[in-house]
Amino acid sequence: MSKRYSPSTTKKAIDTYNDPYLPKGGIHDMAICRKCHAIYHNKRWYMDKALYKRRRNDKASLRVLCPACRKIKDNYAEGFVMLSGKYLMEHKQDILNLVKNEEEKAMAKNPLERIINLDEKDRSVEITTTHERLAQRIGKKIHKACQGELQIKWTKDKLTRVTWRR
Ligand SMILES: [Zn+2]
Repeated sequence: MSKRYSPSTTKKAIDTYNDPYLPKGGIHDMAICRKCHAIYHNKRWYMDKALYKRRRNDKASLRVLCPACRKIKDNYAEGFVMLSGKYLMEHKQDILNLVKNEEEKAMAKNPLERIINLDEKDRSVEITTTHERLAQRIGKKIHKACQGELQIKWTKDKLTRVTWRR
């Protein structure tokens, strides 16, 4: 597990102006992710369980794998979070709960913001996310709750690296 991602191999050359995982448009008025049941309609993705139940067997709904599920499948990360330090190890469960809560909150707003991989190592926790914004949210949330040192670095190709240490 710990060797599953490496920043240099997961990032491919992409057109930075277009998310390569968004559908290109088509004849169906709605698309449904067959894995997480996110719904694509009016050019955006959202979660709506009631709508999913109504439309899941509807032929007008296209069955797809949403951009987040595809990024998870391809291990294609845009956000990297590295947590470390003694305080982290002493409060690991609380901090992991904060991380999970941030993912849930982000997903409720935008289902494309997900954690790809959360790797608990001996002295650190490494998290990859489908979206740079979620990586930043996680770093800021932990910093606010636990203080410590937070560093956020952006790169030109839409990658964000967040490190937090205490
Ligand atoms: Zn999905």
